[in-house]
Amino acid sequence: MSNLRLSDAVNRIPDPYKPLGEIMAKQKYHFVGRHTVVKKCYWTHTALVENRYCYKCKFYGIESHRDIQMSPAAFWCWNACLHCWRIRPQDVGIDVDETKMPFADDPKEIVDGLIREYRRIISGYKGHPKADPKLIEEAMNPVHVTMSLTGEPTLYELLEDLIREIHRRGMTTFVVTRGIRPDVLGNLSEEPSQLYLSVEAWDKKSYNYFNRPLVPRGWELTMETLSILPSFSSPTALRITLVKNFNDGQDALKGFADMIKIGQPTYVEVKAYMWVGASRERLSKSNMPRHEEVRSFAWKLAELTGYKVIGEVKASRVVLLSTIDKPIRHGKGCPEGPEAPEPPGKGEYDVTDPELTY
Ligand code: SF4
Repeated sequence: MSNLRLSDAVNRIPDPYKPLGEIMAKQKYHFVGRHTVVKKCYWTHTALVENRYCYKCKFYGIESHRDIQMSPAAFWCWNACLHCWRIRPQDVGIDVDETKMPFADDPKEIVDGLIREYRRIISGYKGHPKADPKLIEEAMNPVHVTMSLTGEPTLYELLEDLIREIHRRGMTTFVVTRGIRPDVLGNLSEEPSQLYLSVEAWDKKSYNYFNRPLVPRGWELTMETLSILPSFSSPTALRITLVKNFNDGQDALKGFADMIKIGQPTYVEVKAYMWVGASRERLSKSNMPRHEEVRSFAWKLAELTGYKVIGEVKASRVVLLSTIDKPIRHGKGCPEGPEAPEPPGKGEYDVTDPELTY
């Protein structure tokens, strides 16, 4: 995006949020309207220039080069998690309530803008010596939208209309939430193609420590969300971000097993915390588990819950558990699907209580 266009987009962000937008624009977020951001994913890049694909491609058929990574709630959330890279208003001295979105753009305009900005991002690869022209052409027509990136999507009051509008245009949706709005999720008239509840904590104490809720009853709301997961027609996923020396001990293991019994998600993804962005100021590199540690934890969780380990991708340090044998596919990507993984070797299997950091 040229400097002129970048400043045009940021200028549309109302005060007092503009300084946040300026910082995010420098971090290569593209703004669509007043509160929506889109950013090129690492895996979009590797798909285009190296023909390597994200775990969502291998598990669920999502084509990494045609997947728009976005958030409709760039600045707002009900948590301030230790591992988050969201820029908070207080980081730049802005005194606003970060738990309430004061405006809501039209979903049709958001989807138009998302496609426009995604195409602008992809156009930058035309002429790239390593990029595959056929993949560039495909990528100009995105087929999937992932709502995560930064901020809490359920705070956007027109979320169900946005999901519906994306589906109306023939694209699928993954929505990732921290699960603090069971009132919103329980009343969606249009469900996402797959719903993720993303967690790191396994009880109220660990939640208050790690997710630092900005509202009362954050843990109770999370548990309410968990309890309504079985009512979804779409597949659901409980994503556990594994943080070494925080949630890889026996207490956490047992807590997550109990949560799985309540939520009965279609999938459990156990995925390593990655030491990136602003989280480096609050966590250390040693909090990042190795893939072998993720597998050990995942296999133990499978044993406790009766879920099967049905896939893993070492490059993303992620292991997939499910009650079904093969994941439901939402696109044409990576047709080979995940390999059926072998259990870890004997030495890898032990899960020991770490010295907790809180
Ligand atoms: S819930 Fe997500 S956006 Fe909100 S603070 Fe936590 S990691 Fe950041």
